Amino acid sequence: MKGNNMEMISFETAFQLMMKSAELLGKESVSLNEAPGRVLLEDIRSDIDMPPFNKSAMDGYACRSADLDSALEVIETIPAGKAPEKDVGEGECSEIMTGAVVPRGADRVVMVEHTEVAGGRVVIKIKGGGKNICYRAEDVAKGDIVLKKGTVIGAPEIAVLAAVGCSEVPVSKIPVLGIIATGSELVEPSGEPGRAKIRNSNSYQLAAQSRKAGFEPRYFGITEDTPEAIGDIIDRYRGSVDLFLLSGGVSMGEFDFVPGVLKDRGFKLLFEKVAVKPGKPTVFGKGPDDFVFGLPGNPVSTFVIFELFVKPFCFALEGAEWEPRRVYARLKDEIKRGKTGRTSHIPVKLTGRGEVEIVEYHGSAHIHAYTEADGFIAVPAGTGKIEAGETIEVTLIN
Ligand code: AMP
Ligand code: MG
Repeated sequence: MKGNNMEMISFETAFQLMMKSAELLGKESVSLNEAPGRVLLEDIRSDIDMPPFNKSAMDGYACRSADLDSALEVIETIPAGKAPEKDVGEGECSEIMTGAVVPRGADRVVMVEHTEVAGGRVVIKIKGGGKNICYRAEDVAKGDIVLKKGTVIGAPEIAVLAAVGCSEVPVSKIPVLGIIATGSELVEPSGEPGRAKIRNSNSYQLAAQSRKAGFEPRYFGITEDTPEAIGDIIDRYRGSVDLFLLSGGVSMGEFDFVPGVLKDRGFKLLFEKVAVKPGKPTVFGKGPDDFVFGLPGNPVSTFVIFELFVKPFCFALEGAEWEPRRVYARLKDEIKRGKTGRTSHIPVKLTGRGEVEIVEYHGSAHIHAYTEADGFIAVPAGTGKIEAGETIEVTLIN
């Protein structure tokens, strides 16, 4: 019933097993204001050219390049939003505003700062410079795909959706994550821990990570370390979430009942031990209509395993083409370790001088270290040493 007894598998194997089991949640339509953080489920095409007409990039005078040496007659004023009424001919110009339609006949806009009005005519003082015209369809042509299915929608994507008239955005449903803390030692943050107790930080941290990634966390509370208590809370909330996120109770201890309870409740466990540090006893299971992660209780384990497994998995449920943001920088000090059986994740800071500095880190209970970190690096299984000065990949956490 208790404990975690499957064989340890590599990070890569576990990751693939998990990703292969992801199934797309349903589709829905949301407004532009609800769309940030959501995942597009269709390619979006533009219904217009962008820009839709040859558009002035400056306030100034629209004229012919051949006439730059002449004193020009102003034939009309064209504000943004008004179609020009006259074509520009030889010796003529139209006063034009930024964003207005460039009139026929004109092939450039001379910025107002480069001109002078003398005797009722426009004289061009500075003749260099660009044409100051944004040409029709130079950014996007009508019918072009502007956003691909699987895109995670951010602010620039919202602007593009708005510009192409996509006001009802086809997106995936949001994964709902049911968070449960297991551990007879746990009290809520508002409580006094007293002797032999600790505060439940994992649930709030996991909810914060979920919310930041655009998922919907629901917190179900703390359970005692008994199979009955753990089973009851799962039974109570079964059917209301896409995924349970349990923390604690997955190791080899006398009171680690989570894997057994999950199996009893019809979850097929795809892995129970992964060669990662921290987070070795991570459990992942698939139920008939839902999924479950059993995360080791130490706060750094829950934090890192959420980033490494839970986040990519939930984005996969949404059909996203998603990867964490990564940067490359030089390692400031060498890394050495004796045991190389697992891929080790270490909190680091970017110095701003292209260097990566290891954050002081005492192990998987030391979540405070991560408040100093910009991300983590991975020392692969089998690697015992990385030299100072080597370029290393940093997975960013912010
Ligand atoms: P476990 O995975 O249950 O063996 O727990 C490993 C360590 O993490 C123990 O020191 C626990 O007290 C601690 N821990 C477990 N759950 C939580 C939690 N929700 N918040 C903070 N620490 C926890
Ligand atoms: Mg425990």
